[in-house]
Amino acid sequence: MDYNSQHSARTTLCSMVNNASNITIFTGAGISTESGIPDFRSPTGLWSKMVPIQFDEFVSSETARLEDWRRRFIMNREFSAAKPNEGHKALLRLNRSGKLAGTITQNIDGLHQKSGLPADQVIEIHGNSTYGACLSCSAKSSLLEAERVIAETGKAPRCSLCGGLIKAATISFGQPMPEPELLRAAQLAKSCDLFIVLGSSLVVYPAADLPQIAKQNGAELVIINREPTPLNQMADLYIRDEIGSVMQSIL
Ligand code: NAD
Repeated sequence: MDYNSQHSARTTLCSMVNNASNITIFTGAGISTESGIPDFRSPTGLWSKMVPIQFDEFVSSETARLEDWRRRFIMNREFSAAKPNEGHKALLRLNRSGKLAGTITQNIDGLHQKSGLPADQVIEIHGNSTYGACLSCSAKSSLLEAERVIAETGKAPRCSLCGGLIKAATISFGQPMPEPELLRAAQLAKSCDLFIVLGSSLVVYPAADLPQIAKQNGAELVIINREPTPLNQMADLYIRDEIGSVMQSIL
């Protein structure tokens, strides 16, 4: 995008935000790349380096569980060291303005909450990788404890309350989505007047239904992403640019 079209896209976004009273934000891995966390589907993203572990593999194979935990511990060290960037901070300012109805995130890194956004306003539809949860009784546990158990026993951790399998509290491929979060996200998509997508390839479903639900219910749709997405055609505005710089300049 040349300077003039970049400038005019930002001006348009600015007036859309000013005119809106009920904004829903939808974030993907792209909002966290400026904090040093790689996304999945960019050319250098995580999927170019490793094959994801499916939920049924995790449940049925101890080898898959140990490999999943090994990756989690590496990822979690990266998440713990990462700091919220200008994109995350802009959402905090939007929240203070009273226009932000909620932030739906596909991210599992906890950076929205770390930026100061109240946890009850962040809807994590793909869970959170910074702690563990029992697949049977949902009891939460720490990753440090899981790491200690594996180091001492060589086995994947089990729940101390019910003996169930513990897994990082994310939604893996093939794992059922969390119903309450999905319902709340759909409600936000239906009731907003402006829906802004920040850094998502919009190819993961049912998450990618949400911008479409918003549009079908009368909201304006904005997509800010480095690469075109399959929903660009239905967007009122697509900005092909870096999230931090765009959001900082308009708020
Ligand atoms: P994705 O990797 O499929 O897409 C990310 C998109 O963001 C890409 O199209 C890329 O071009 C764009 N992008 C990257 N950096 C950008 C920037 N600075 N400015 C503008 N655009 C940028 O990610 P997704 O759509 O969120 O879906 C995949 C899954 O990835 C989600 O389920 C999520 O749980 C998981 N994930 C999360 C994290 C995280 O929590 N930080 C990291 C990797 C993957």
